[in-house]
Amino acid sequence: MMKFIDTHTHLYDEAFNSDIDQAVERAKMAGVSGCILPAIDMDNQIKLLSLSDRYPGYLYPCTGLHPTSVNSSFREELQYVYDCSCKGGFCAIGEIGIDGYWSRDFIREQMEVFESQLRLASKLNLPVIIHSREATDEIFEVLRSVRGESLRGVFHAFSGSFETFIRYSEYGDFMIGIGGIATYKNSKLPETLKKIPLDRILLETDSPWLTPSPHRGKRNEPSFIPLIAATIAQAKGCTAEDVAAATTQNAEKLFGIKFNNT
Ligand SMILES: [Zn+2]
Repeated sequence: MMKFIDTHTHLYDEAFNSDIDQAVERAKMAGVSGCILPAIDMDNQIKLLSLSDRYPGYLYPCTGLHPTSVNSSFREELQYVYDCSCKGGFCAIGEIGIDGYWSRDFIREQMEVFESQLRLASKLNLPVIIHSREATDEIFEVLRSVRGESLRGVFHAFSGSFETFIRYSEYGDFMIGIGGIATYKNSKLPETLKKIPLDRILLETDSPWLTPSPHRGKRNEPSFIPLIAATIAQAKGCTAEDVAAATTQNAEKLFGIKFNNT
């Protein structure tokens, strides 16, 4: 059976309140042998941790401050991420980055928070999970400012061009996270994926959001990962088995986890 890793799911979101155990069961049945849980902010870090404690060796927690949660109390939030990361037990700092889509009110603060979390990850030798939405210039401005730090990680929900992927690679050992967007009609991603080597690609759902076709409109969940793998296989002219094997190996390497067979 194929083995997949969902490198980006918010299973602790309230959208899963009524059926979290069944959602995990369905994921296992679909061949998902591990999930990474990126954090958002202080409000849900505890919920994230209690869920990952319930599924040790299957759900892996992150800590980090999401750009859309950066507001006037960002210093307190950032301190919380520092405190969490000192305690250890996290496989990545994320998700972090810049979002110019929802609001640009705190864009300078988002940049400061992003920079500070990149330095933290470099110091702790942890990978980063980066969220970049309508903020390409700001992302590169921050990446330039931390040149010299040793960065590795993933640009999650990647939907950019091959050129953007190459530019990211100049600043660290970066992979791209591919999810539902690649399955949408008119998506330019499959064309781009043809040029991106399989050893740079991770699978992700970003569930409960970004549901892949043909389930668009419904809640997303990790058991939909095989649909993403099939789309990548089709784009690259290889088998879904090839995609499963490569992306699982990539996830193990990036996050330093040996995922179990389930
Ligand atoms: Zn996310």
